[in-house]
Amino acid sequence: MLPTMKLTTALAGFKGTLIRPDDAGYEDARRIWNGAIDRRPALIARCEAEEDAALALAYAQAEAVPVAVRGGGHNVSGSALCEAGVVIDFSMLRRVEVDPERRTARVQPGALWGDFDAATQAHGLAAPAGIVTHTGVAGLTVGGGFGWLSRRWGLTSDNLLSVRMLLADGSEVRAAEDENEDLFWAVRGGGGNFGVVTEFEFQLHPLGTTVLAGPLIYRADQAREVLQHYREFIAGAPDELGVYLNLRTAPPLDWVPEHLRGIDALLVIPCWCGDLDEGEAILRPLRAFGPPVADLVQRKRYTAQQSMFDAGVPHHWGYYWKSHYLPPLSDGAIDVLLERSWRKSSPASYTLIFHLGGAIARLPEDSSAASGRDAAHAININAAWPEGGPRHPDINWCRDYFGAMEPHATGGVYVNFLHNDEGEARVRAAYGPRYERLARIKARYDPDNVFKSNQNIRPIR
Ligand SMILES: Cc1cc2nc3c(=O)[nH]c(=O)nc-3n(C[C@H](O)[C@H](O)[C@H](O)COP(=O)(O)OP(=O)(O)OC[C@H]3O[C@@H](n4cnc5c(N)ncnc54)[C@H](O)[C@@H]3O)c2cc1C
Repeated sequence: MLPTMKLTTALAGFKGTLIRPDDAGYEDARRIWNGAIDRRPALIARCEAEEDAALALAYAQAEAVPVAVRGGGHNVSGSALCEAGVVIDFSMLRRVEVDPERRTARVQPGALWGDFDAATQAHGLAAPAGIVTHTGVAGLTVGGGFGWLSRRWGLTSDNLLSVRMLLADGSEVRAAEDENEDLFWAVRGGGGNFGVVTEFEFQLHPLGTTVLAGPLIYRADQAREVLQHYREFIAGAPDELGVYLNLRTAPPLDWVPEHLRGIDALLVIPCWCGDLDEGEAILRPLRAFGPPVADLVQRKRYTAQQSMFDAGVPHHWGYYWKSHYLPPLSDGAIDVLLERSWRKSSPASYTLIFHLGGAIARLPEDSSAASGRDAAHAININAAWPEGGPRHPDINWCRDYFGAMEPHATGGVYVNFLHNDEGEARVRAAYGPRYERLARIKARYDPDNVFKSNQNIRPIR
């Protein structure tokens, strides 16, 4: 327990709410998206102003307790919370300010992608975001980030123009291509290792508000042929098209036809973000193949596509993930998908395959700390159980499946899909040849490793 007297004095200017274990709101305040995580911070410092973060950080350092930073609270590993330490909680700071002339957005560190999309789409603008609207902008961006628009406009972090950051020594700096360049390089993919971002500035793009998108649903017994066709189809896909795969029990969500709910299904989900007539022509062979048992591809609002998966991954269920980057799907990888995807016990567990390449791959590998430029896909094997709590049989399903896929993977992994039990070798695998440079930048900006509630990069001198 942190001493109350000291706390009141040290945090005298704090404008937000200080929540301690004895306070009424504590149990709620320490809940995050993943209901399998159970950590008890000594203090949750819920910031109302950006300056609050500096006070909370100084206090944690004076008391020599751990510190964690919470954006959207969605990291599966639970890194938004630390045991017996101070959580700098940004959940009240969600403003997104758009400058439609310059096509830029200034974003506070607690904003969710739903906030971002609402503000930018009001001007027909967008930037590559995560594909679930209740995920945080902050954690996703500092880990790299990809979504429906990434093949056209790159990783989320490729669209950052600048950040304002609070560093471990309490100083506040701006980082951009022309200022603190090494820090800017590192924070675009290197996670929360280098400091606390208090404001993001993004470049936006003229998307308009409509995309051609939605799932094609196939039965599991069609999956081999469909996956083989998918592989050929996407080999020549233009940048405006991303096609994701979701192997799962068809969920009881509004958009799934009632008679298909509960079947073992493969969802092939295109999202075309270019000229809509051209998209209709390009998608024709994909939609004709099979044929699917349901074709739900339509012209729809981008924001509707963005929220399509929201209800399938609600807050406070138990979740456990494992992930690889993949090259184009090999026959061996397809065999593993067919053998493993549906052999789970929870209907909520699923496999998601992101389609990368395009603009992501066109930047040099060392243009920032972010990974994935050499991968065709990221696969996320997601054990999910509505009852919450730390244990579920699908955790073993997930681990075994991950092991079976390993020979068909690139050896790399997206840092934001790592769990908290993976170890240093996997963090190194996430950064590959960029790890040493990151560790040296870490030594410059955070030599004492104050920011270690993350996929940690240890400082080397
Ligand atoms: C349902 C769901 C859908 C997802 N979809 C996608 C997707 O489409 N694409 C994708 O790329 N990823 C996706 N992810 C993964 C996502 O990128 C990570 O979970 C990410 O960490 C979430 O960010 P957050 O702010 O919500 O997380 P938090 O748990 O709040 O933060 C995670 C970590 O980020 C760092 N961090 C947070 N805020 C700051 C800050 N202000 N300054 C510095 N560091 C900070 C800290 O290290 C913190 O521990 C998804 C995750 C979930 C749960």
